[in-house]
Amino acid sequence: AAKVDPIIVAHGIHRTFGGLTAVDVEHLEVQRNAITALIGPNGAGKSTFFNLLTGFDKPQKGEWSFNGESLQSHSPAKVARAGMVRTFQLTKALSRMTVIENMRLGAAGQGGEAFFTALVPPLWRAKEALITIKAEELLTRFQLIDKQNDFAGELSGGQRKLLEMARALMSDPEIVMLDEPMAGVNPALTESLLEHIVELRNQDVTVLFVEHDMHMVRRISDWVVVMAEGKIIAEGPPETVMQNTAVQDAYLGA
Ligand code: ADP
Ligand code: MG
Repeated sequence: AAKVDPIIVAHGIHRTFGGLTAVDVEHLEVQRNAITALIGPNGAGKSTFFNLLTGFDKPQKGEWSFNGESLQSHSPAKVARAGMVRTFQLTKALSRMTVIENMRLGAAGQGGEAFFTALVPPLWRAKEALITIKAEELLTRFQLIDKQNDFAGELSGGQRKLLEMARALMSDPEIVMLDEPMAGVNPALTESLLEHIVELRNQDVTVLFVEHDMHMVRRISDWVVVMAEGKIIAEGPPETVMQNTAVQDAYLGA
């Protein structure tokens, strides 16, 4: 993975909570159409960093660009429309909605709610029809089509993870940020999740994901970035990064 075509470039990002520095990233580039893993001990700042990049949280300092465009102080909806989405764990409220309803919500913020479209019923209906077609295609691809009218809360842990991923794809993102996509998933479905992640890259979607299982990271990542105490302490190809002594210390010391 030669560092030649970054989709995200971040500089000097600081997020503190009271006296605690959660994120202190001096410089990071995420390469387009690659799978990048963000690893590090619990509390390293990985989820906070995802929140900052996607507009769900604001840093005290820092700047970053997506496709060369500054996205600071943009709302999460605006960031999603620009092509950057992160997955969220299924909340209680979403569990009480059906699978297909969850998918339709994934399309929100995509322009479907534009004022003009909402005022013109034929346009609105055409848009709705397209959203349904896309939702059904994705549910088929993620083998959830038979569950489309089930409540999301009735899905197994692994199926929820598939739904989280499928929902994120409703807005045609250029980059998908997956926060622990394999957490709580039984081994039978991990394989399928790994294949879906690799398939995203094959379809020219950039993937940035947080994962604890180094075996999974090694199997699918082109590049690994290691965070500890808010800072990036190492990065490189998966074969070499875990041999880094600073990385080993961060894990063993955790
Ligand atoms: P990771 O995802 O790597 O496990 P997090 O980004 O969740 O780490 O957390 C980084 C640090 O920031 C932790 O010490 C955590 O307790 C703290 N933190 C995260 N969010 C908040 C918050 N909203 N308020 C206070 N502290 C927070
Ligand atoms: Mg986290």
